[in-house]
Amino acid sequence: MGGNLDLRPFLDESKKIVVSNEEKKAEAEFYLNGVEYVRVEGENFVVSVPSTLFRDQLQKYLLSKLENSLKLLTGQDFKIIVEVSTSFQAPPSANIGETIETRTQQNPIHPIQINLNKDRSATGLNPAMTFENFIVGEENLLAYNTAVAISKNPGNDYNPLFLYGSVGLGKTHLMHAIGNAILQNNPGINIRCIPSETFVSEFVSHVLNNSAKTNAMKKFKEQYRKLDVLLLDDIYDLQGKEESQEELFHTFNELYDHKKQIVFTCDRPPRELKKFNERLISRFVRGSIRDLKVPSWETRCAIIKKKIELLHLNLSDEIIKHVATQINSNVRDLESALTNIRSYADLINEDITMEVVQKAILPITNSTGYGSISIDTIQRVIASYFNITSKELKDKRKTKNIALARQVAMYIAREMTEKSTTDIGLEFGGRDHTTVMHALNKIENLIKTDPKMDSVIQNLINLCREQHQFSS
Ligand code: ADP
Ligand code: MG
Repeated sequence: MGGNLDLRPFLDESKKIVVSNEEKKAEAEFYLNGVEYVRVEGENFVVSVPSTLFRDQLQKYLLSKLENSLKLLTGQDFKIIVEVSTSFQAPPSANIGETIETRTQQNPIHPIQINLNKDRSATGLNPAMTFENFIVGEENLLAYNTAVAISKNPGNDYNPLFLYGSVGLGKTHLMHAIGNAILQNNPGINIRCIPSETFVSEFVSHVLNNSAKTNAMKKFKEQYRKLDVLLLDDIYDLQGKEESQEELFHTFNELYDHKKQIVFTCDRPPRELKKFNERLISRFVRGSIRDLKVPSWETRCAIIKKKIELLHLNLSDEIIKHVATQINSNVRDLESALTNIRSYADLINEDITMEVVQKAILPITNSTGYGSISIDTIQRVIASYFNITSKELKDKRKTKNIALARQVAMYIAREMTEKSTTDIGLEFGGRDHTTVMHALNKIENLIKTDPKMDSVIQNLINLCREQHQFSS
């Protein structure tokens, strides 16, 4: 075999074998989807990938498995050679701070050009939310790469995309970036990017105005069903709105059947939606589900560096690090911190010192409530209250007392931090997020039915807060 033979089908089959054996299927699928057949030269099986990131991830986790499957299928001892295609460069994940610096030196940031022509404003897209000014870190890498892939080939591999995560983490930004990129590549395309609330209010007003003469409902349905791309933000706003859900269900089917791209954003994974049409949820989980997590300290530094360039703010490294340490909730808070610093700077007209920065960000650090309390602190407080060790909260033992303490600690972690149930599960000995959800439900019920429980939890929250203030 070899020579000019096209061994593409073998590559495709090998990918399937690898994915079927992977625990992290979505991730494996994602990276393997980027692998394209190039040629075979002797024993070398040459493939290309879109970026060095793909290459590195493949080499780390998947390449030897792919080689083995290929051997299995072809009976030949191929060595896979990975080339990075130059036509597309996604930002690599390693050394994020450094990469951002080198990138910005090469491509100085130009003020965003807002070119609001009529067509664009009808789409609902915010032209300032693009891939170019979205900072990529470990916490949003997979979501980002999926979004980029969608923008290059809408309606195909990742349909629908369900993006979730807590507030201020870039869900809306990424969704608009998908729309903007698709529009740029396909200027005539019919895109609509709107908050779910708009969908509901349009639906209601068309129902109210419907009559044989106006045919308002028909127009409403047509308007959505003839779209090429539908981007619906904050889908949880449809909770409890049965008729709007029903309408969306039909719109979804129509678009999906015609391979039109659909993207939803939400504050939680699909299965955690309450008062939601089961059939609609089953459609959400049919495509790709990606989450955005709170950015790490390194990513926060990179975000600050990028944003201060846009704001023409000059901050020392020490100050950048300080802000990244103090504001650890989300990107929106980081942005408010920086705009506050900007206004202070304008006011005093002097160099921006650490004192100035501390004053400027105080309102934000105060308003984020429990501040940066760690799950570790919570675990220590709860463990000592229940007279067990933190380690026992994380390991597998299940005596009644330990199980209750664990559930209480998970509940309080959810109350006091921005962490998702997935993250909380990880911090409790790698438990699944469904276990965390079960704990949350159970404690919620106990609080409702047992007044003693309510006050115990409240006291524990106060203890955690005290411990946090004491130790920071
Ligand atoms: P969400 O929809 O998740 O609540 P947004 O997308 O509205 O969050 O993001 C809040 C703000 O933070 C926006 O101004 C957005 O541009 C900015 N932002 C969020 N994530 C990033 C990121 N990774 N890089 C740059 N800016 C970001
Ligand atoms: Mg949003």
